[in-house]
Amino acid sequence: MYKCPCKSGKEYDECCGVFHKGKLPKTPLELMRSRYCAYVLNLTDYLLNTDKNATQNDKEDIENFSKSVGWIGLKIVECFDNVVEFKAYFRADGKVSVLHEKSFFSFEEGRWFYSGGEILKAKADRNETCPCGSGKKFKKCCWD
Ligand SMILES: [Zn+2]
Ligand SMILES: [Zn+2]
Repeated sequence: MYKCPCKSGKEYDECCGVFHKGKLPKTPLELMRSRYCAYVLNLTDYLLNTDKNATQNDKEDIENFSKSVGWIGLKIVECFDNVVEFKAYFRADGKVSVLHEKSFFSFEEGRWFYSGGEILKAKADRNETCPCGSGKKFKKCCWD
């Protein structure tokens, strides 16, 4: 047992693990967290299967991206209706970066899909709370 990489504080087997094993997420937020988690764990098929617009051709891009970065953590900014706004923090080329996205989801044939997103401009701040979930300041935790 280990803590879920989506930083929910729960064990992986009781969090995103159940979705990776086949249970359908009931909400866009559950799907979003489990997709972030799939990036961390390199579960490319899960990412393809839950993305409305992805095809097998995207597989390599997804794999290359998720292998080239070191994921630090996830913060949910806001979620309502079929929208989840989040910040996903990662390290690339030795620098802390943040992907700030407003994701859209659609419910089709009894399940949720990721249907696209709008990238928002964001910079990670050394003084914000660490996205790893420690409760410490970023600069005193995972920043370096
Ligand atoms: Zn999780
Ligand atoms: Zn940290």
